[in-house]
Amino acid sequence: MPNTNSLANTSLTTAEQLAREELIDMVPYQSARRLFASADQTAGEEKIWLNANEAPGLGDYQLSANNINRYPDFQPESLINAYSDYAGLAKTQVLATRGADEGIELIIRSFCKAYQDSILICPPTYGMYAISAENHGANIVKVPLKPDVLTLDLNGLAQQVGKVNVVFLCSPGNPTGNLLPQEQIVAAVELFKNSAMVVIDEAYIEFSPEQTSAKLLSDYDNVIVLRTLSKAFALAGLRCGFTLANEDVITLLSKVIAPYPISAPVAEIASQALTSQRNIMTERVDVTNSLRDELSQWLQEQSWCQQVFTSNANFVLFRCSNDKVKTTVFDLLVANNILIRDQSKQQQLASCLRISIGNEQEIAKLKQVLTKQLSIS
Ligand SMILES: *Cc1c(COP(=O)(O)O)cnc(C)c1O
Repeated sequence: MPNTNSLANTSLTTAEQLAREELIDMVPYQSARRLFASADQTAGEEKIWLNANEAPGLGDYQLSANNINRYPDFQPESLINAYSDYAGLAKTQVLATRGADEGIELIIRSFCKAYQDSILICPPTYGMYAISAENHGANIVKVPLKPDVLTLDLNGLAQQVGKVNVVFLCSPGNPTGNLLPQEQIVAAVELFKNSAMVVIDEAYIEFSPEQTSAKLLSDYDNVIVLRTLSKAFALAGLRCGFTLANEDVITLLSKVIAPYPISAPVAEIASQALTSQRNIMTERVDVTNSLRDELSQWLQEQSWCQQVFTSNANFVLFRCSNDKVKTTVFDLLVANNILIRDQSKQQQLASCLRISIGNEQEIAKLKQVLTKQLSIS
């Protein structure tokens, strides 16, 4: 008798036969690290990493492993105190997570029923909203940013009211760099009042802190703000982020998150970065903002550069005069051990590249290579 059990297909591994089908063809997030995993190991040559919006420079942190034999607090108190103080919110409005990426995942898992509910994104935008949604089995509705100005298409958003459970806005945007106008964010929150949670991803808000949407939490119950220590705080390797929301939302997310998401050493370092070392962050932000403005200005003066996007973050997005020029610029930098990020596959961003603002020497080296060696035929 023929075996009709699908597990009998021997050309597939057991894992491949059992896996959720949609995962087989899924492409994981192409992080800057993954894309240049081999470059990391090339011996001898120092790489200049300007492709992941990390901050340059190391902090100086003290670690005591006094209680390392014990489980940490679910939400370490010193850390929550430090962040609520920094954000000007109540402790009940703060959830610490393994990076802002975990916040994204928790929100989708908490508000979207798998294979039924949808999230809304506004491309070009940060890739993890779609990856987390796919992973969970949530549908993805796209309402692109308005061409050229890269602000919200509020009419487009209005058409999706009642059809989505979570709306992801990114301000300042990644990879675009611009802030969404405050009145547009408020309009979006109003539009989705009673029908969807509106998440404002503020991974880069330290570069223009007065523009935060955290103040909306007192007026609206459908607002969530995402923050991270990975960018302005120069702690990408720590994996620490924060979800800011009203208490009912935090209570809900607390049911979905792992029982000990923040390890004791992470809490120790993050608490120091947010208290005694906070001024180091604000000084770094000032330096980064001026380097960014200088680089934007310089790019504007280059004949091969067609457009420089306004940035309120620690990176600059620019459009090359055509795709061939884009490839030439990117490859020349790689040949000189300088890694930037190709954004040309994103909607509306043909021939676009993104440069993260490293330290002064790194940006000087990049300009020097492009000035001396770039030949566009
Ligand atoms: C870098 C980034 C994140 C992720 O931050 P982590 O805290 O490192 O997980 C989230 N959103 C945006 C827009 C980012 O650029």
